[in-house]
Amino acid sequence: MDDPDHGMYGSYAGLMEALRSWGFRVEGSEATGGGRDVQGVLEVFRKAEGGREDLPYEADGLVATVDDLASWARLGTTARAPRWAVALKFKPLAAETRVVSIEVQVGRTGALTPVAQMEPARVGGVTVTQATLHNEDELRRKDVRPGDWVRVRRAGDVIPEILEVILDRRPEGLPPFDFPEACPACGTPSVRPPGEAVRRCPNRSCPAQIEQRLIHFAGKACLDIDGLGPKLARLLLDEGLVRLPTDIFRLARKDLETLPRMGEKSAQNLLESIDRARTAPLWRWIHALSVRHVGERVSQILASRYASLGELSRAEEAELATLGEVGPEASRAVAAFFRSPLNKEFLSDLTDGLLGIDPAPERAPEGGPLAGLRFVLTGTLSGLTRAEAKSRITAAGGRVLSAVTGDTDYLVAGDRTGRNKTAAAAGRGIKVIGEEEFLRLLAGGKED
Ligand SMILES: [Zn+2]
Repeated sequence: MDDPDHGMYGSYAGLMEALRSWGFRVEGSEATGGGRDVQGVLEVFRKAEGGREDLPYEADGLVATVDDLASWARLGTTARAPRWAVALKFKPLAAETRVVSIEVQVGRTGALTPVAQMEPARVGGVTVTQATLHNEDELRRKDVRPGDWVRVRRAGDVIPEILEVILDRRPEGLPPFDFPEACPACGTPSVRPPGEAVRRCPNRSCPAQIEQRLIHFAGKACLDIDGLGPKLARLLLDEGLVRLPTDIFRLARKDLETLPRMGEKSAQNLLESIDRARTAPLWRWIHALSVRHVGERVSQILASRYASLGELSRAEEAELATLGEVGPEASRAVAAFFRSPLNKEFLSDLTDGLLGIDPAPERAPEGGPLAGLRFVLTGTLSGLTRAEAKSRITAAGGRVLSAVTGDTDYLVAGDRTGRNKTAAAAGRGIKVIGEEEFLRLLAGGKED
């Protein structure tokens, strides 16, 4: 490193001291100081390794650095690393324990993940009882068997992992673990496409997948429905109150009040959070669909390009693939998801407007004739269904609200419209228009 500052600070310790005096947080610099030999460095290292569990953060080692900055330039670097610094790694925090069983968990997209259930072991101040074995290949490579003694490690915040089996302690005749050919939740034969490490349950109606999808749907990363966690999700499915994730928008207070530990107040709060979720940002709704390869980032990109789920559902794979950062797998998966007959019911719930689901778009379609306008529909239109009217409004850049509020621009009144609704709208200065006028607005014309 050609360091123009070495003249100013002289030493690495001096540089750290300067940084500290400017208010930077400098960690572990008590160990710095010139003039140490190799023995001295190792002493510091051993002391640090012994005290690692007292640190307020996770650390996996130290870096020993040449203190004299002028020497850095003379030592230079190899292709991969500087010659004036060397990383000294602590021994991984590991413990030995016994595997009680291996469970195969089913994820929301059907991925089958083997998880070792272990006798509790203390690793780096934390008790661990579970370790992921990632996938079928990894399980086979490590040859972990129920009843084996294993070395487990925790690295940073990640889920504990099994380093190796302690073969000396393997009981005689311990049978190997056979990865199940069928999904443990629904019995459907699992599939493993060539080139993929993960075995999957291909049955989208698999109860374990449905449960995981519901948990994801309502979870923090998606619709963020307060009070709808894994326990309640399971209960709603067990009680038959929910089959598709969208069924939560059909829940009534009387359904909820029959559930154990669900008081009047918590039922009320839950219904309110469910109601708020109807108009959650579009990217959250896209993420909530549980389409493979579509995480938060891809969901945000799709939401910035499409104004509604309906619009996204009509996008072709080739078009999706032209959006930056949306890879070929994600494009294929999105297009396939919206065309799969298995998702028909779920998708019509999302787009027909009957459940009041109305994701907030990132942006309206450019130049739509109804851009920025808010509509409430009431009564029956003769030329188009409620759902069609709704999707045409959205496609034209407008939004459909479920009830008349101060923000409403137009109340579209079809036949058999309740007088109260039109009177209420008119009383608030909201324009009430009929079908003919509505169609004229849609076509880009001005109202009379
Ligand atoms: Zn299954």
